[in-house]
This record gives sequence, C-alpha cells and structure tokens, in this order.
Amino acid sequence: MTAKEMISVKDALEIILRDIKVLPSEKVPLNESVGRVLVQRIIAAESMPPFTNSSMDGYAVRADNTQTASKSKPVTLDVIEDISAGHVGQREVTPGTAARIMTGAPLPKGADAVIPVEDTSEPWRGAERPLPKSVKIMRSVSPGDYIRYPGEDILAGNEVLPMGHTIRPQEIGVLASLGISAVDVVRRPKVAVLATGDELIEISESLAPGKIRNSNSYTQAAQIRQMGAEALNLGVAGDSTEKVRRKLQDAIDAGAQLIVSSAGVSVGAHDVVKAVLDEQRAVKIWRVRMRPGKPVTYAEYCGIPYLGLPGNPVSAMVTFEVFARPVILKMAGYKKIHKSRIMVTLSEPINSDGRESYIRAVVSGRQGAYVAQTTGKQGSHMLMSLVRANALVIVPEDITRVEPGEQLEALMLDWPEIVF
Ligand code: AMP
Ligand code: MG
Repeated sequence: MTAKEMISVKDALEIILRDIKVLPSEKVPLNESVGRVLVQRIIAAESMPPFTNSSMDGYAVRADNTQTASKSKPVTLDVIEDISAGHVGQREVTPGTAARIMTGAPLPKGADAVIPVEDTSEPWRGAERPLPKSVKIMRSVSPGDYIRYPGEDILAGNEVLPMGHTIRPQEIGVLASLGISAVDVVRRPKVAVLATGDELIEISESLAPGKIRNSNSYTQAAQIRQMGAEALNLGVAGDSTEKVRRKLQDAIDAGAQLIVSSAGVSVGAHDVVKAVLDEQRAVKIWRVRMRPGKPVTYAEYCGIPYLGLPGNPVSAMVTFEVFARPVILKMAGYKKIHKSRIMVTLSEPINSDGRESYIRAVVSGRQGAYVAQTTGKQGSHMLMSLVRANALVIVPEDITRVEPGEQLEALMLDWPEIVF
C-alpha cells in the first residue's frame, strides 16, 4: 500500500464513527448509575424543598414584631416551643411570641421569618441547650428572611434531567431527593482486549531470552475501565492465525461489542492479525497518517467493530486515545466523545516527519497561558515518556518544524492540577 492510500486521522475517525451505534439501554439501581447516560427524561413528581422551612438555626418570628429591634434596644419575645428538623410545630406563632427552630425544620403557622440564633440573646454554642422561656431579638428581619420555599429548587411537573444527560454525583443527589431508585441508562460497552506476539509472556512470568511482558493488555484494560466500560482480557494470542481466530471467537462468545488488539498489524512476516482480518475481507482502514501509530486497522469482525492498534506500547496507548476512546464513548451514549484540546505555547522546538504527530508533553499553566514542554525522548517503545506526560501536543500534517513560542493544540490526558 502506498502513502497515498493512507488516510488522515480526521478521515479515519469519520469512517469509524459513522459505523458505531449507541448501545441499547438497561435499568440500573441509582447506586450503580454514576457516569452513565440517561435514556429517559426525569420529570419531578414532587417539589424540592417539599415544604416551607428555615435556612438557619434560630427563632421563627412574625417579621413585624422585630421592626424596632436592635443590639442596644432588643425586643423580647415569649418562646412557645422548640421545632427541630424532622418535626412539625404544634403551635401558632402569635404576636409577641417566637418558636425556636432548627435548619430544615418546617416554619410554624403564624411565622413569616427567622432570626438567626447569632442575633438573639441565646448563647449559640453547644447542643442540647435548654429551651429559654423568652428570647431577646437584636435585629429586625423582613418577611421571607432565612426561609426556604417549596419548589424553589425543583418544581413538581418540570423536567429536571433531559434524555442523554450524563449522571454525576450531583444528578444522583437530585434523583435520590425525588425518590428515584433506578434509572434507564445506556449499557456499558463490553470491550475485548487482545495481545499478539510470540515474544509476549504474562506479567507473573519471569523474563526469558527474547521475551517481554504483555503490558498493552493491561494499559488498554485500564483505559477502558477509566471510561466506565467493561474490559474483557483475552490474553495473548502469539503469532499464529489459528490462535488469533480462537481468541476472537472467545470475544464473540463473551458478547464483546468492540475488539481492540495490539500488534500484528504491520508489514512484518508474522503480522497475523492483518491476515485473519483479511480472510474476512473486513478491513476498512489499515494505515493512518499519524505518528506514533501508522498501522491502525479498522475492520468489522463477524459483525463486531475491530480496532487493530500498533504493538509498541506508546503507539498502542496513543492510538487508543485517538480512536478507541471516541468509539467506546459513542457506544456508551456520550455526546462529548473526544478529550478536551487546548492551545499551548511551545517552550522548545519540535521536529516532525510531516505526519500528524502526537508529542508527549507536560502542559502547565503559567501567567494565564498554557506552556508545553516535551517529555524528552519520544521513542514509541518508551512508556516512561507517557508516565511523565499529561498531554499530547499535536503537530498537524505537513508541518516538519515548530519553533519555541509558537502555539499548537494539545490533547489533554490529565489537567495540570490533577497530576502536576
Ligand atoms: P509489532 O506491531 O508486532 O511489530 O510490535 C511492535 C513492538 O511492540 C514490538 O517491539 C513488540 O515486542 C512490542 N509489543 C507488541 N505487543 C506488545 C504488548 N502487548 N506489550 C508490550 N509490548 C508489545
Ligand atoms: Mg509482533
């Protein structure tokens, strides 16, 4: 295949994502729904707050009884009862009286405001304070002060969460408040991970001549899990078409909705993945103009989308970020399927070979701008270049040199405040 038949990252993504469908839905308990995408609209059956209540610990009063109150000339009110959160007051606050009230307790009949305890004669430290017979009020309040009204947050009958919304902890809080204990969400994609190559041994094994441990399967399973999808580790197939076929059958039997493999897709004499996919005449893409990662294969294996990524650990992880990530997130129903990109200023020159290049870098915020420094040697076998990085700076196609001070886009793996 010639360079002309290689396609750009953008075109490859377009071809791949066109094929990918959002998975069907399932009902899950609220506890298990964080990170999932809603396939139902949530309409509030009740208002929140459900009743008028106090926003402070203090005294429920009639605001007009406090109009002349000040620190130097307090107004004294008779205390008629104590209303703690969860309990309903039994008596009406009449002129000249007040009820002690705690945050979240229902406002008693007759009261239209609350005086915070700090603005009364009651010493406001310590729990289990006895209820005083009377209280001195040191300030005035207007009707409605320190009161929370029903429906202020959520009004019964309104839509609180639209279809397609991603559930975060705060959405869980809203659903819990409304008494919704299970929700319809998009299924979690099940992604099978396959490693190929006779040189690979399991991580529990000791090194032997010519052998290295299979790291890609673990990196990729972690990438999958970090996105909230389910990873199915198929293990190592070795460099035999028969073994690859058998492992792929395992993926099908387990109900995988996507297969990701690493290695075996170059032009080496033992690149067996490519051979197995070719048998099915299912290869749609097998070269992408990017670095690292030229041998990126996209196919459909027995009806399942298949991403054959390169074997070098850096190439495997970068191409996963660029291709597998949006595929998995689209399947899971997310609208935002690409990592955030920001403009960064280079602190050193970068050379490239004219392919779209993903340079491992540390992006840090300096005086309101983001500055990128590469993590040194960029060999695609050097995983530590990714360990040191929090971003991939993207050198666009056909550009072979970028000078310090110039700006480029960076794909953020993590944000500076998270890692550095
Ligand atoms: P290949 O694509 O088969 O030519 O492999 C490219 C390079 O990646 C070789 O140096 C392999 O040993 C290495 N490699 C392939 N698969 C893995 C893996 N699962 N874990 C770590 N390194 C790998
Ligand atoms: Mg190989």
